[in-house]
Amino acid sequence: MKLFRFLALVLIASSVFAQSKKSSPNKDAVIKSVEVHQQELIKISDAIWGYAETALQEHKSSKELADYAEKQGFKVTRGVAQMPTAFIAEFGSGKPIIGIMGEYDALPGISQKAQPTKEALHTGGGGHGCGHNLFGAGSLGAAVAIKELIQQGKLKGTIRFYGTPAEEAVGGKIYMARDGLFNDVDVCLDWHPDIETTALTQSSQAMVDFIVEFKGKAAHAAADPWNGRSAVDGMELFLDGVNMLREHVKPSVRMHYAIKAGGDVPNVVPEYAKVWMWVRDSKRDGVEAVFSRVKDIAKGAALMAGIESTITIQTGDYELLVNRTGATALQKNLEKLGPIIYTPEEISFAKKIQEASGGEQVGLNGAIQPLKETEKDPSGGSTDVGDISWIVPEITLVATTAPENTAWHGWSVVACAGMSIGHKGMLFASKALAMTMVDLFENEQLRKDVRAEFEKKRNGHVYKAYIPDGPPPVPTN
Ligand SMILES: [Zn+2]
Repeated sequence: MKLFRFLALVLIASSVFAQSKKSSPNKDAVIKSVEVHQQELIKISDAIWGYAETALQEHKSSKELADYAEKQGFKVTRGVAQMPTAFIAEFGSGKPIIGIMGEYDALPGISQKAQPTKEALHTGGGGHGCGHNLFGAGSLGAAVAIKELIQQGKLKGTIRFYGTPAEEAVGGKIYMARDGLFNDVDVCLDWHPDIETTALTQSSQAMVDFIVEFKGKAAHAAADPWNGRSAVDGMELFLDGVNMLREHVKPSVRMHYAIKAGGDVPNVVPEYAKVWMWVRDSKRDGVEAVFSRVKDIAKGAALMAGIESTITIQTGDYELLVNRTGATALQKNLEKLGPIIYTPEEISFAKKIQEASGGEQVGLNGAIQPLKETEKDPSGGSTDVGDISWIVPEITLVATTAPENTAWHGWSVVACAGMSIGHKGMLFASKALAMTMVDLFENEQLRKDVRAEFEKKRNGHVYKAYIPDGPPPVPTN
């Protein structure tokens, strides 16, 4: 009896061990697929890096990705949600439907060569200071790997790649969400370039982006100022009010603005003024509360100046609804893949950037960071991925594509996104996301658990896009 028990224990222990060590043929296959396609993925990413097209202007960048998807056998639908640069690429049929998102918009004015010192590639041009060239190509690489398994009959269901434009401005995903394009998806994934590598367990800030306009009455500033009503007076009173409000909001709130119009010359009472402003907080409720006070301040300021004010919402992001069940599944795959290893040249490239940025020269961090506790208030930043996370369970990876101790949305991130440091992060992301999608296709219980956590956290909330009615603001040039 004793011996039997001992043997049974040995058997159980060895089978658990065998299971945890067991290699998955489908996971091996997706890793292989990314390796087979890696030169193509790098080529696409570098092309998009070179185009550096900003929000809703990403014509060449989206074509680069959509054409490749089409060549790989995906059914591609271009120009979805009334945005010429948005598209969907799909392969397979039926459930489950696993979605994966890719971005490709650049930031204006931060053009940079792929070198460790600051020098524009095209003076005044855009640059991939958030690494979205890697984001798009990396996600598509993962989708292609899954497509191959569906094609070979090794996975059942649908893989759907979302080409999502204009993350840095406008919020392309919000228009796609408003059109219901994510409604039938079981689980959606994405990744983002970063200074470290982990399954993301932190939320992002909810925000509202709006314009405040003041309309007064022009007059000669010396001859008859009593006949004038200054729009700039109203704007100044408004901004004073906003800055006084700072004392009475929670520490998690952020308010920032840029003055877009404030009169032309001193000797005319200005009849028009315009402020572009964002309010952010950890949750959408918090944003709503502050925004309602800001609206009152605009009204009060206009009343004091004897003018009129109007507020126009441009866009707004939900905070990211973290799915820890999904993140845990992703994290296991990161640990299987192991850290991103850099060459001495890459480390020295990173150190030169850190030196130029005045930061400590610590090189690159390719280690897999442990899964972190979800903090109550996220650190600064908003994303339209947040909106998607309220429609469908969302799993997000962050992977190292640039060194720490340097400014994000800056020249050094552009530099790394156009060379091997960025490429390594992108290929790592392709593999990790494809492996996690293998889990999601193969494991129905995982899909159920991910969905259960999502429903619990969403708590019956019905998603409503924070954008004005009508089409997206596609530039007409
Ligand atoms: Zn970004």
